[in-house]
Amino acid sequence: MIVAAVALSSSCGGDRRAASAPAGAGASHDVDRAAIDPSVAPGDDFFRYTNGAWLKKTEIPADRSSYGVWAQLRDLAQQRTHELVEAAAAGSAAAGSDERKIGDYYASYMDERAIEERGLAPIRDQLTAIAAIADARALAARIGDSLRADVDALNNTNFHTDRVLGVWIAEDLNDPSRNVPFLLQGGLGMPDRDYYLQPGARMDGLRAAYRSHIAAMLKLASIADADGKAARVFDLEKRIAQAHATRTESVDVAKANNPWPRDDFGRRAPGLDWAALFRAARLDRAPTIIVWHPSAIVGTAALAGSVPLATWREYLTFHAIDRRAAVLPKAFGDEAFAFYGKTLAGTPAQQERWKQAVDATSDALGEEVGKQYVQKFFPASAKAQLQQMVANISAAFDRRLDALTWMAPKTKANAKAKLRTLRVGIGYPDAWLDFSALSIVRGDAFGNAERAEAFEYAHQLGKLDARPDRGEWWLTPQTVNALNMPVQNALNFPAAALEPPFYDEAASPAVRYAAIGAIIGHEISHSFDDQGSQFDADGRFTNWWTPEDLAHFKEASAKLVAQYNAYMPFPDLHVNGQLTLSENIADVAGLSAAYDAYRASRGSQSDAQSGDDRSFFVSYGQTWRAKRREELARQLVLTNGHALEEYRADSVRNLDPWYSAFDVKPGQRLFLAPPDRVRVW
Ligand SMILES: [Zn+2]
Repeated sequence: MIVAAVALSSSCGGDRRAASAPAGAGASHDVDRAAIDPSVAPGDDFFRYTNGAWLKKTEIPADRSSYGVWAQLRDLAQQRTHELVEAAAAGSAAAGSDERKIGDYYASYMDERAIEERGLAPIRDQLTAIAAIADARALAARIGDSLRADVDALNNTNFHTDRVLGVWIAEDLNDPSRNVPFLLQGGLGMPDRDYYLQPGARMDGLRAAYRSHIAAMLKLASIADADGKAARVFDLEKRIAQAHATRTESVDVAKANNPWPRDDFGRRAPGLDWAALFRAARLDRAPTIIVWHPSAIVGTAALAGSVPLATWREYLTFHAIDRRAAVLPKAFGDEAFAFYGKTLAGTPAQQERWKQAVDATSDALGEEVGKQYVQKFFPASAKAQLQQMVANISAAFDRRLDALTWMAPKTKANAKAKLRTLRVGIGYPDAWLDFSALSIVRGDAFGNAERAEAFEYAHQLGKLDARPDRGEWWLTPQTVNALNMPVQNALNFPAAALEPPFYDEAASPAVRYAAIGAIIGHEISHSFDDQGSQFDADGRFTNWWTPEDLAHFKEASAKLVAQYNAYMPFPDLHVNGQLTLSENIADVAGLSAAYDAYRASRGSQSDAQSGDDRSFFVSYGQTWRAKRREELARQLVLTNGHALEEYRADSVRNLDPWYSAFDVKPGQRLFLAPPDRVRVW
């Protein structure tokens, strides 16, 4: 599962952005003129105009399913993290110290010989416990005991877990002064219900490959009747998938805001011994649980009551092995990659072990690694300057709100209140998570992975007893991405994303505002879009718009849905304009606010000092530079909330200054008549 998770990172940045030079070293502080393809008219295909020469000469590395500026920045962050963890592994820091934990985690993951020698011994206890499930109560307890905080409904919008259910702990949508658990659907090995249910030869092929993968994993573990078990496991997952909500339904908070009293679960979702499950999951102290996917919870509970226990044991056995493939003997990792990496994402070759180990360490000890990362790689001066840019772009948003003619005065006041209280985190959190309760044992890669996830789960459970922290971070500093957290009314911009070409102190304002400025604008826009309008300044789930405001917004967004639905990445597949709506609005609005802030920042400067409109838009187009393999592109079109990069670059067609900058004329492919250009804010 690790392979798929890496390829599918899906928060707001979601693999966007492009570089004018290899990230970090030797950046030119300007747009990349050599990447432009002058044979393409900007008005016909802006993505290929700005990136065409780069696209022609760039091959996706064999161990990747995609490549582009985000990948380049991730490489940079990974190299730096590698330096840190290697130094920690080689050093002799005191037992129990931060550095020692990082070093021991990494060294254990790298010690493939020890992993090989231990064979299946580390997972034996789990498999024995699963084999001992003899009644409904034991099944429920086992499911509960295996739950982890591994999904995120609103911040990172990660709806996938191969555990039977997903747990997320965050502010109560209806009372943001307290934290509550959220229960999400789960239990699938493949990325989404569509993979189980959508007809067609392609999906039939993937389903057959997944059944073979299940059988292969069981055979590797010397489990008898692997093919028979694989068929039954697959069939159970297919039935779980039938109960699942679609990806589009999953982002509809109104459908998801279902607070169920804990004692009501048995009545509302019969089939599972919920008391046993909650006790084992340590959720039995929460009086209320918000059920994000009610029909899936009901459906899954019914399957727990109706599918034979033997099938559940087979299913739990497969997933226990499958999710830990990376820290079991090499044959398991290779088989997991063959399916999740090669077949599902189209990646020809597996990442080198050290890269996997760096990422695993960085996941398991997120802020522990992050603390060291920012000490070494993120200067305080950068933080101060970026805070100023954030202030300028917020001011641009504020002016755009003032200028809106369609929004009711009361709605405007609410929007401005939200903007005023928006909490913007730059680089890293104000307070660091304390890892002293986590034990990392050198030579026990499997146990370390288990303990790190259990530690994170305990940390999340601990939030049930604490006041919500609006300064909480949902990305580590070494992550290349950015986030809007609607209930916290807060943004995260991790240090690793604040690097050239996104953030380059020496670049002209035009280039800078189009790069990091558009990202900042994108994230701010989420506070006011179809999702953000449902959360007030305190994070309460309440609509602060009048019906007229909503009608106008829907009209504007319907145009954007149609604009994106018309894009056809493949002859048989179009972009899902509804699924990607929030992100597309954020792109258009973020770019617009960044443009305003850039113009305002010019003062009396000349083009030579501040850059011109052409370099602004080219800089933006180049930040989307990316290539993807077809398998991954198709997977993302079906499941991801973001449109593919090339269409995100083309969002420039909604801004009037783009037309004058490139003399775009009617009849050109991207030309929109002025009334069809979408302006939400
Ligand atoms: Zn976003």
